[in-house]
Amino acid sequence: MGVDAARAVAGLKELRRRTGNEDGAQRVAWTDTWITARDWLADELDGIDGVTVDRDEAGNTWATAPGESERFVIVGGHLDSVPDGGWLDGTLNVVAGLEVLRALAPERRALTLKLVDWADEEGARFGRSLLGSSAAAGTLDPDAVRQLKDNQGIALPDALKENDVDLDTMGEAELPDIAAYLELHIEQGPRLEEAGKPAAAVIGCFGVERHAIKFTGKASHAGSTPMNLRHDAFLAAGRFGFAARESAIARGGVATIGTVTAEPGIPTIINQVCEVTLDQRAFTPEQLRDMLADVKRAADEIAADEGVEVEWTRIWQIDPIPFDETLVDLAAQAVGELTGDEDPPRLPSGALHDAAEVARRYPTVMVFSSSTDGVSHSPREDTPEDDLRVALRAYGRLYELTAGMISAP
Ligand SMILES: [Zn+2]
Repeated sequence: MGVDAARAVAGLKELRRRTGNEDGAQRVAWTDTWITARDWLADELDGIDGVTVDRDEAGNTWATAPGESERFVIVGGHLDSVPDGGWLDGTLNVVAGLEVLRALAPERRALTLKLVDWADEEGARFGRSLLGSSAAAGTLDPDAVRQLKDNQGIALPDALKENDVDLDTMGEAELPDIAAYLELHIEQGPRLEEAGKPAAAVIGCFGVERHAIKFTGKASHAGSTPMNLRHDAFLAAGRFGFAARESAIARGGVATIGTVTAEPGIPTIINQVCEVTLDQRAFTPEQLRDMLADVKRAADEIAADEGVEVEWTRIWQIDPIPFDETLVDLAAQAVGELTGDEDPPRLPSGALHDAAEVARRYPTVMVFSSSTDGVSHSPREDTPEDDLRVALRAYGRLYELTAGMISAP
């Protein structure tokens, strides 16, 4: 079996034509353009003999090519994009899965193969990522998302209802008993391009610590307050940003001050309050724990030094999610066979993926293709077609190796 990489690339271009405009991809989940993309997929599936298509309670699409056993290998990903997004995130994973399905459907199989198109991976409209996959994985709390609204004021439950999805019964969607879940994605970062490599095995997803940190000092006159008598909340926050960077570099993770607000925010007044959000990510729980401890200590020291108060609020946290070691080895082997690389790259993913939800319960792995300039979630998102073809074939080979391993007596 071989994945028809040229056909996959043609499919990606067709999706770009149907669901993009001059500003990029517009396949935002629960919108008409997203449905256009899903209709394209339905038509493609329609043309494959022996495949049945269902939709679960969470709005995820499942296409099944039955095998002799009830053991499932799952391929696919998500068709939805951010607004003004790129042509490859995440269409590449669904189109790659489609080509695996197309190649295998006519063959006799020991295993049942399923292609999934998760509903709303990006959370672009309502702010909750991995919606469909978390519902199926049993980690979605409906009450935690019930109040979410889009920028038109439409509530998430109403938008779901328009798409025949009921927030309160979404959780009845269930993952089958998955023997292996395989997902192909663009890297969305610069590491493969920098290394001159087309593809990599992904070892897991970074964990995240996200906090709001509020520094409170004293507002006073910009002209008449001597430098040594100031309690400048902005300067404390600024120093804190440097401390977060230092810690991330030292511990091998990443840290971002994403939002900054300062009050009163007047040119002639020292800021009394400065609130920032900090997003820290790392691949091991130890790194993440150390990074958080570093910045908490730094915040206390800076606050004492600047004469301001500091207050922490946790926004979100998720543990790092390592992928299945055996499948990671197979993914590396598949990439190596296609590239001739004896030591193919193994990377953690800084971004979260539906695969992370599945990996909580079932053996999971991803393959990355390179990303031009490391850009994603942008109309500039791209991957050289040669690299795409290598990654697509490696993904097909990963399926073969995985199916071989699972069906071995
Ligand atoms: Zn994606």
